[in-house]
Amino acid sequence: MSTLRSKNPATGEVIQEIETTPIESLAEIYSRAQSAQKYWGSVSLRKRAQYLLDLREVLVQRADELIDLISKENGKPQFEAMANEIIPSADLLTYFAKKAPRVLRDHRIPMVLMKHRRSDLNYWPVGVVAIISPWNYPFLLPFADIVMALVAGNAVIFKPSEITPCVGLRIQDICNEAGLPPFVLQTVIGEGLLGAALIDHKPGKVFFTGSVVTGRKVMEAAAKHLVPVNLELGGKDAMIVMPDADLDYATSAALWGSMSNSGQVCASVERILVHERIQERFVELLKAKLQRLRQGPSLNGQNDLGPITLEKQKSIYTQQIEEAKSHGAKLETGGEFTPDHRYLAPTLVTGHRIEDTSIYQEETFGPVAAITTFKSVSEAIEKANHNRYGLLASIITKNVPLAEEMARQLAVGTVTINEVLYTAGLGETPWGGVKDSGFGRTHSEAGLYEFVNVRHIHKPRVNSIYFKSLWWFPYSNYQFITFRLFLNLYRQSWIDKLKVFPHLLWNLVQMLKREKRL
Ligand code: NAD
Repeated sequence: MSTLRSKNPATGEVIQEIETTPIESLAEIYSRAQSAQKYWGSVSLRKRAQYLLDLREVLVQRADELIDLISKENGKPQFEAMANEIIPSADLLTYFAKKAPRVLRDHRIPMVLMKHRRSDLNYWPVGVVAIISPWNYPFLLPFADIVMALVAGNAVIFKPSEITPCVGLRIQDICNEAGLPPFVLQTVIGEGLLGAALIDHKPGKVFFTGSVVTGRKVMEAAAKHLVPVNLELGGKDAMIVMPDADLDYATSAALWGSMSNSGQVCASVERILVHERIQERFVELLKAKLQRLRQGPSLNGQNDLGPITLEKQKSIYTQQIEEAKSHGAKLETGGEFTPDHRYLAPTLVTGHRIEDTSIYQEETFGPVAAITTFKSVSEAIEKANHNRYGLLASIITKNVPLAEEMARQLAVGTVTINEVLYTAGLGETPWGGVKDSGFGRTHSEAGLYEFVNVRHIHKPRVNSIYFKSLWWFPYSNYQFITFRLFLNLYRQSWIDKLKVFPHLLWNLVQMLKREKRL
């Protein structure tokens, strides 16, 4: 029997030792999921939506223990566990309970040419969805995907991160407690190998959230079986601070955007582009605010930043900061680990030559922000876009119409004006990236559609076997001429259209006579 040790990153204390799921048991797990899905997929949308409301009730009742566990296992302050994970989850449940029945019911397509027929779109579950998740928002991220998958009628096999398995298992518990039929959701515990094995069992879809490196492996594995994938990957998000920005507001936005969850956020503000006119004052103010942040164990409720959750991230921070320094960067504040090596002081780096170094180009995923400057709007946009990621960008300004114009030129999945990060937790707005940040969307109507197949049903308005379609066999010369004349009805000018009409009618009649239909 193999086990995983879940640890509190603030203390190193073992929270729980958990038995892992043997890879050999996946076949049985899939077979149970397939049977469970048959029943769950036949439950009405209205009832599945009602289940979300029952789940919301359990979530709120269990909130305190969930907040405590998230904070313990991930390290984030309890406030963040509540405000950034549990409350958005309750909100998501409310949104999808209301929205899903309307979005996923059959939709009619208005026919343009074929007025004698009708087309309906029918959304049906993809079957068994494999959801593979990271550790940085161990509750909200998988929970949102699970909720969408379930309301769409799928069964789910969920693999939480090996860093936060206890939170993963609690998601399973509350879903069961809310009355989910057995095996509609099954949580499997293990490391990357288990995730890879999940894909080899050919789920209906793989919903993956994690790093670019793993995302590529997931896509490769899925390609072997032609399994569709959604990839929610990393980011290197830019904040553009315009010269008219209120500096107190702008620095507070940059502070929260870069340091929330100790910067371990896919949409963290890692690159700050400040207009050169205000750069000096911006840096001074942000530096002062960074130095006032309190770091410490998450459970006492007194700290703003928890520890670094994942040991292996620490060497990335050191390497990026050292490389920036070797390119003439100034370390404005931070850069040092605490003696127990669990916390990196909030770090700010400035300097023009860092733009091509890893601190500006590669995901840091920690309490580190880097500032450079720009002179014009076009330069700001060009610099913001000069990156392989494209998840989120933010603009801070008093001129919202200008920001909107700029937003339309940024190659990202989301642009927030005078806000940062938080739309990742909204039910009603889409979340996802472009370029190396992945593809596909979660949350919103677009997210729901990721969890269904679309079936197009094309039927006659009035059922008749008398009129066979004009393009069926046997082909004839009259048929060719009729269709060629018909093509002229797509001409721009009404005169050209009308000219062709008598010929078209005559040929059509000849064609039908020849086929003995008239
Ligand atoms: P990771 O890629 O190391 O792991 C993510 C998950 O994939 C884990 O459950 C892991 O066990 C599993 N896994 C590992 N190898 C696998 C394989 N070969 N096949 C299938 N599954 C495998 O990422 P992480 O360190 O847990 O999370 C941090 C990353 O996630 C960051 O890059 C961050 O930006 C990204 N992220 C993106 C979003 C988003 O919405 N775009 C949200 C949160 C985190």
